[in-house]
Amino acid sequence: RASAQRPEEVIQRYMEVVAGVPDEDCIICMDQLSNPSGYETPSTEEGGQSILPDTVGKFIKCGHTLHMLCMLAMYNNGTKDGSLQCPSCKTIYGEKTGTQPKGKMEIYSIAQSLPGHPDCGTIQIIYSIPPGIQGPEHPNPGQPYTCRGFPRFCFLPDNDKGRKVLELLKVAWMRRLIFTVGTSSTTGEPDTVVWNGIHHKTEMMSNLSGHGYPDPNYLDNVLSELASQGVTEDCLKL
Ligand code: NAD
Ligand code: ZN
Ligand code: ZN
Repeated sequence: RASAQRPEEVIQRYMEVVAGVPDEDCIICMDQLSNPSGYETPSTEEGGQSILPDTVGKFIKCGHTLHMLCMLAMYNNGTKDGSLQCPSCKTIYGEKTGTQPKGKMEIYSIAQSLPGHPDCGTIQIIYSIPPGIQGPEHPNPGQPYTCRGFPRFCFLPDNDKGRKVLELLKVAWMRRLIFTVGTSSTTGEPDTVVWNGIHHKTEMMSNLSGHGYPDPNYLDNVLSELASQGVTEDCLKL
């Protein structure tokens, strides 16, 4: 899914050059915007406007300003998926994707109600990810990754809001945002598949881990975690 577009084009799609340089610091390099970026202009392949060290850019929606070459360096350090995230306010431009390994997401319906949601049944999500070898997008390419606690069972109330969360989780799954490969903060194990900041409820009738029901704020919390990864209701209108 990674797009083949030139990194410079991605920067120029979501940032415009500002003429009068504001008296502010660049949030990436912390130097004044009136000083040039420490990064060099990449050697140009033909076509396209090159970005110079003193070029200051402004994000088209949020309006935050920074050295365009600093932003280019940040982009080149990431997954290079054609999307940008403003380092000041975290606004996402384009479609952010993650590094979740291959696996499957299955959805089932359970008649029993969750604690705190007595008026409806339950949606069960089962995530299965088998062990594999890390790709170039992972911390240690070529090394294996392990998968602890899979398949992982997760639960949502089967009401309007729960079903909306489910649809957004499907989008997040397709964009590889639910899991990542890294070090588990619970076990300390490196090179393993871990949750990626979108919380799931993994207990249905108990709450031994703190990731169970009842939790009246859960659906709102997960909606804002999804939004911070660029997954919002707008994604469902396409
Ligand atoms: P992690 O420990 O690196 O934590 C990442 C995030 O996941 C944190 O925000 C944390 O709050 C959350 N998290 C931690 N434990 C969770 C749990 N049980 N359910 C839901 N969210 C949880 O992430 P990790 O290493 O992926 O998961 C933590 C541990 O939980 C692992 O040891 C895993 O094996 C275990 N786990 C087991 C099952 C199971 O069904 N047996 C399901 C989920 C997680
Ligand atoms: Zn800078
Ligand atoms: Zn911003």
